[in-house]
Amino acid sequence: MKIVRNILLIALSILPVVSFAQWDKYFENKGLRIDYSHSGRQGVDYFTIEAMKEIPFYSGSHKNLIDRTDNGAYLISLYDKNTKKLIFSKGVSSLFNEWLSMDEASRMCGNFEEVIIVPCPKEDVEIEIAFSVRDSVNNFKEVVRYGIDKNEIRPLDFFSKQAKPSVPHIITLNETGREIDKRVDLVLIPVGYTLEDREKMMQDLQKMSGYMFSEEPYKSLKGKIQITAVERYAKESGIGGLKDSKVKDSDLGVVYNTFGSPRYIMTRNLWDVYDVIDRVPCDAIIMVCNSDTYGGGGIYNYYATCYMGEKSKEVIVHEFSHSFAGLGDEYAENDSQAGVTSSKVEPYEDNVTTLVDFSKKWGDMIDKDTPIPTPQTEEYSNKVGVFEGASYISKGFYRPYLHCMMRDLTPFCPVCTKSIQNIVNLYCE
Ligand SMILES: [Zn+2]
Repeated sequence: MKIVRNILLIALSILPVVSFAQWDKYFENKGLRIDYSHSGRQGVDYFTIEAMKEIPFYSGSHKNLIDRTDNGAYLISLYDKNTKKLIFSKGVSSLFNEWLSMDEASRMCGNFEEVIIVPCPKEDVEIEIAFSVRDSVNNFKEVVRYGIDKNEIRPLDFFSKQAKPSVPHIITLNETGREIDKRVDLVLIPVGYTLEDREKMMQDLQKMSGYMFSEEPYKSLKGKIQITAVERYAKESGIGGLKDSKVKDSDLGVVYNTFGSPRYIMTRNLWDVYDVIDRVPCDAIIMVCNSDTYGGGGIYNYYATCYMGEKSKEVIVHEFSHSFAGLGDEYAENDSQAGVTSSKVEPYEDNVTTLVDFSKKWGDMIDKDTPIPTPQTEEYSNKVGVFEGASYISKGFYRPYLHCMMRDLTPFCPVCTKSIQNIVNLYCE
């Protein structure tokens, strides 16, 4: 028994070394920004690489290079071309994925901008990039794999319209004192603020940074989440998209009324958004929108948006938890078809289940005497269970708690709390 335990201890102590060795063997201390088009319709996906840019930072963990969370609608993987060894992967979701659940996506072709930032391969390392989508039972299925021609990777200055690109002014709003690869780098991008709005913009950025730490578990994770903002100004003040809006050319293409849902704020101009933060370490993006009309949005490993008004504190904590932690909505109503999925398949979000394959979910957090499904009664109001109604659907989809930030903007349930803590720790190792 002792021998077995010793072997286990040795194995555990070797693991991190092996992972860091992977970083040293394949990657250098820079990032590679890959801009690609994601086009197609329901059941058809095309991924076309449009540009590859060498950027000064890769701000993710150097140890956790392979994504084992099994979250997101898509998986992007890097392989060593010679050995075919998997050396990096990341799960992501996107606006394209939400568009697929619209009626028009069965007839028309959609085309969306997407971006992935990966570690930059060393001079002598040849790599391949693979794009995978979910199959009918939510397993990843590789769609296409490309060999990357390193001559196509250009320095940032190559893409600059100016002879001398200006380095943006960065405002640090929460300093962690941690190394870049051992913290979460959250970047706030102000949207729809003109130079005349400068004072309000500075106040809103401070407010937004404060909102992020207003709720647990984020409050306790403050020492691990670095928040910076980019100082920038729009031509027009405010956010467009609504019928009565005076804004004609909305800043960075950020608008209300995405997919016909009035309070859903999104942009399709993702490459413009990334141009703003090319020279900033970034693991997650929040676009702080200069508008007092209720709204926001958040897509996993894509970005979050939020208005600035009375409920902004709750809205951003909710939306950021979609975009950063990949949590699903725990409410059952929706004002758009976007994101609606089948109850015959187990969803990949940590905090929702169809009970098709509950083994991967929160069973270990439920008391033995709590029935599954769990009655929505006072008796179970502070207990982890399996409550019907989640993911915009009242039947066949279940959530872990009666109330949660992901359902009704109340404090996070224990399952979501654990999930957020896990993700933050993956960035910090
Ligand atoms: Zn929850």
